[in-house]
Amino acid sequence: MAEQSEPADWVRCEGCAGLVYGRRYARALQVCPDCGHHGRLTAPQRLAQLLDPGTAEPIGPVPAVHDPLGFVDSRPYQDRLDEARDRTGLHDAVLCAAGQIEGQPCVAAVMDFRFLGGSLGCAVGALITHAATTALDRRVPLVLVTASGGARMQEGVLSLMQMAKTAQAMAELDEAGILTVSVITDPTYGGVAASFATLADVILAEPGARMGFAGPRVIEQTTGEKLPEGFQTAEFLLAHGMVDDVVPRVGMRPVLGRLLGLRPPTDPRPHGDPAAILRAADELADRDPWQNVRLARHPERPTTLDYIRRLVDDFQELHGDRLTEDCPAIVAGTGRLAGTPVVLIGHHKGGPDLGERRRRRFGMAQPAGYRKANRLMRLAAKLGLPVVTLIDTPGANPGPEAETGGQAAAIAENLRLMARLPVPIVAVLIGEGGSGGALALAVADRVLVSANGIYSVISPEGCAAILWKDPQAAPAAAASLRMHPGDLLSLGVVDGIVPEPPEGAHQDHAAAADLLEAAVTEALRELIPWDPDRLRAARRARFHRYGADTGAGAGAADWSQP
Ligand SMILES: [Zn+2]
Repeated sequence: MAEQSEPADWVRCEGCAGLVYGRRYARALQVCPDCGHHGRLTAPQRLAQLLDPGTAEPIGPVPAVHDPLGFVDSRPYQDRLDEARDRTGLHDAVLCAAGQIEGQPCVAAVMDFRFLGGSLGCAVGALITHAATTALDRRVPLVLVTASGGARMQEGVLSLMQMAKTAQAMAELDEAGILTVSVITDPTYGGVAASFATLADVILAEPGARMGFAGPRVIEQTTGEKLPEGFQTAEFLLAHGMVDDVVPRVGMRPVLGRLLGLRPPTDPRPHGDPAAILRAADELADRDPWQNVRLARHPERPTTLDYIRRLVDDFQELHGDRLTEDCPAIVAGTGRLAGTPVVLIGHHKGGPDLGERRRRRFGMAQPAGYRKANRLMRLAAKLGLPVVTLIDTPGANPGPEAETGGQAAAIAENLRLMARLPVPIVAVLIGEGGSGGALALAVADRVLVSANGIYSVISPEGCAAILWKDPQAAPAAAASLRMHPGDLLSLGVVDGIVPEPPEGAHQDHAAAADLLEAAVTEALRELIPWDPDRLRAARRARFHRYGADTGAGAGAADWSQP
């Protein structure tokens, strides 16, 4: 269905106004080789670029009313429609096809800005809905490529209703557990931005693409204020937590292929080794609790991203809370751990480099970090993917911003969500497990701690300052708080211990990663066959028991059960 015409000899780039040789420009998928400007594609060109060759199967058009108001401005709307159809060869501003991307089946609906500015009218609403219904019937993901100036005024209030109609179609895909991905291209505004474009599970944007409800001209005219440079661009949206990632056109297919390939783990179950998790405290070497604290905080200890790089195949980091920002202290995404598809979420302290540690807020998340984790956990629930969390934080964020951003509620929301998540959750305290900031990722079916990890309600320094009135008493506080893995195991707060290399994980990242992988795989092997009811019942019973007068160790998992 691609409209393959000979490229013009020379093309003028709309970004830098430079001349680019036509064939070179076409080979570069209409991205300027000099300035990187992403030129606008027609819907047929986009489908031809995205879908695997020979796999496109056209869908639609479907019956929809045209010109329901008999609208006339300086010209009859019907004339404008006829003219747009003649000029573009399209029925309306969206073109749909079933096909494959990197071998993964999907339904794609692609908007075309040439057709009346990609405006959202009844025919577009009908086609987007039809594409969603087709994805639902075939149980394959829906990919939406958006480009729109907003609602189609000539269709009046019926055009407004298309926002609700398409949002409803997205809700049905949510209920059915079918992945939706939107690709934001320049520009995406108004009713399209405020419906299916931003309701997708994953929102990718092309570099420089602008998206918003109100356009910049309207905002400047209304407020009389000059907008900042880059306002509403993909990069701005990423920094403000609105999109999952900015992906250059040339990299879009591999990213989509990874996402479309996410399926719940079934057969074969991962191979596990029960010996990968230590289940008795006496297997641990005697260690001074203060030495334990120092090792847990060692700046060269492997971080969440170190483990991800070593252990997770096809990791696709997803960013943002869709509300305020992308918190760099929590890293989250999808990938395969020892072959098992998972959603992985972890605090990230930033490693040994001080600048990077600062940028990562030393692993102390803002509320946006917990909300990003929350969003990704809901995605895991929707798609039936297990959740693996890696916990490494000194604690909640002590800054005023975290408070004005609703830190307490953001943590609380995660505790409640994790209590009802219908998929397996495995949490590992890989370093510091500090207070509510740690627990916000740790309401899990299996809670493990690295052999040099710690878990505590407060830092030993904080406890010493408050109760001893002497920060020098931190080692004594560390001993009294019983935050050592052996203590945690006997209190029943953790189910097992992940061994580390003899001198500590910081001495051998590769060996530490292998040990972590074996332990997580073993926990997943056990949990993956459990149905949602069993998972939730056992998880709730576990946390319900803590502190009840039934003896120490009452909370931990009973490993003896089949
Ligand atoms: Zn250019």
